[in-house]
Amino acid sequence: MRILVTNDDGIMAPGLVALRRALADLGDVTVVAPTTAQSAVGHGITVTDPIRVHRMDLGDGVMGYGVEGRPADCVKLALLELMPDRPDLVASGLNLGANLGINVLYSGTVAAAVEGAFYGVPAVAASIEDSDSVDYAGAARIVRRLIDQLMVKPHGRPMLLNINVPDLSQGPPRGVKVVPQSMKGFREAWERRSDPRGRTYYWMIGDQEIEDAGLETDVSAMAERYVTVTPLGFDLTDHGRMDDVRQWNLGL
Ligand code: MN
Repeated sequence: MRILVTNDDGIMAPGLVALRRALADLGDVTVVAPTTAQSAVGHGITVTDPIRVHRMDLGDGVMGYGVEGRPADCVKLALLELMPDRPDLVASGLNLGANLGINVLYSGTVAAAVEGAFYGVPAVAASIEDSDSVDYAGAARIVRRLIDQLMVKPHGRPMLLNINVPDLSQGPPRGVKVVPQSMKGFREAWERRSDPRGRTYYWMIGDQEIEDAGLETDVSAMAERYVTVTPLGFDLTDHGRMDDVRQWNLGL
């Protein structure tokens, strides 16, 4: 089995190291990841600048490709240029910080997995809840156990899954839940500061909004300390509104 490992936290990020190690004996692992942190770049790609690629020693006797680009660039380059054969799996992560609710749409980690799915390659995005002591290796073992199970399931079409692991310092997760993406995002707030020249600048702060009582989503399941699995798609069409909009009889 050929596996492409990528991320949005950068090729030297501890989450990627943990994921790469956890998948090492599952097949041939190729690492193609951004040279710099690319969190929250979403599905951006590089179109007006050159993309330089660096062969890098990642430790453990492993070489990888550091890409001066976005997570989606990494997957495109890996699939079309850098890997001799298409991978059987794109694994993106482990991201530091859960990717839940509408934050999924900002996530470079998820975008890399979606990019794999564009090419018909099964893909998972994996993230670990941020905390004071992040257990990357423990979370990577959980993701590996899920991947072992997922790869042998029947897939009518290539899978695209978003996996989130709760903070493990509070004990083992309560289980695995397959849940839909919440519509909640960040409770956004801005801190306004002054720079040394007296000019105003802003810094986004805030935390994950809590799910409304009764709704079971990735946000609520993570709050209950479950590992969450959410199948994703990339058709943004609001199919439920198609008829309404057609009936508006728009014309020129
Ligand atoms: Mn990130």
